[in-house]
Amino acid sequence: MRFLIFVNLAGKAAAILVGWTSPVAALALWFAPDALVAYHLFAPQAQGFVRMHRRFSTGSREVWLTIDDGPDPEDTPRILELLAAQGARATFFVIGENAAQHPELIRAITAAGHEVAHHTHTHPLATFWCASPDRVRRELDLAFNALRASGITPTRFRPPAGIKNFWLARALRTRGLTGVGWSARGLERWSHEAAAVADRVLRHLAPGAILLLHEGPRVPAAIRVQAIRLVLERLQAQGYRVVVPTPGQLAD
Ligand SMILES: [Zn+2]
Repeated sequence: MRFLIFVNLAGKAAAILVGWTSPVAALALWFAPDALVAYHLFAPQAQGFVRMHRRFSTGSREVWLTIDDGPDPEDTPRILELLAAQGARATFFVIGENAAQHPELIRAITAAGHEVAHHTHTHPLATFWCASPDRVRRELDLAFNALRASGITPTRFRPPAGIKNFWLARALRTRGLTGVGWSARGLERWSHEAAAVADRVLRHLAPGAILLLHEGPRVPAAIRVQAIRLVLERLQAQGYRVVVPTPGQLAD
């Protein structure tokens, strides 16, 4: 992160220096570092501001299924049934507001042996990248409080759509949270059928993959729960176990 800030400031200073003699070069020097910063904020695979794990280390045919945006009173119980039927374990990255409304679902997730993780309190998709330190603190702490009320202390965090923030790395570190990205995601909101979502998530399947799927009303009706069901069936058919990795297994 310090390197990105240094590059940005150096670019601005150089732009001012050459601005009198070469306006075109000055424009390039001014904006190119901004593009670099934008890449590290918005690109899910970028690691410049915050480390986001994208795989876990394993020597077996194992993947990590992560389900974002719950808990949801319609979807979560059905997903828990699917997971139980396949002997699968998953991590639910839940929104704090939803968790506060449905503590019984949080308890059901953990009682079934799954992990509950942190996905901000209000899911501020459009504004998280520019949130102030105070806003970041509130997004983290309010969800923490909601989960603690259900007896959970989360250790893993995923920002909305993987978008980072200048203040996030320090905020995560002080709260003992590890950033988790993904190696494949369903992009359900831009899909029309569950099979297309499953195809996308499983296209480059390999041991140690982190798969991202969603639950709740943001997922199109025809895909809700069905995409997760299909993914679980196909993983089982290909001999993959669905596991929650230990902290020691988290790599790039
Ligand atoms: Zn989300």
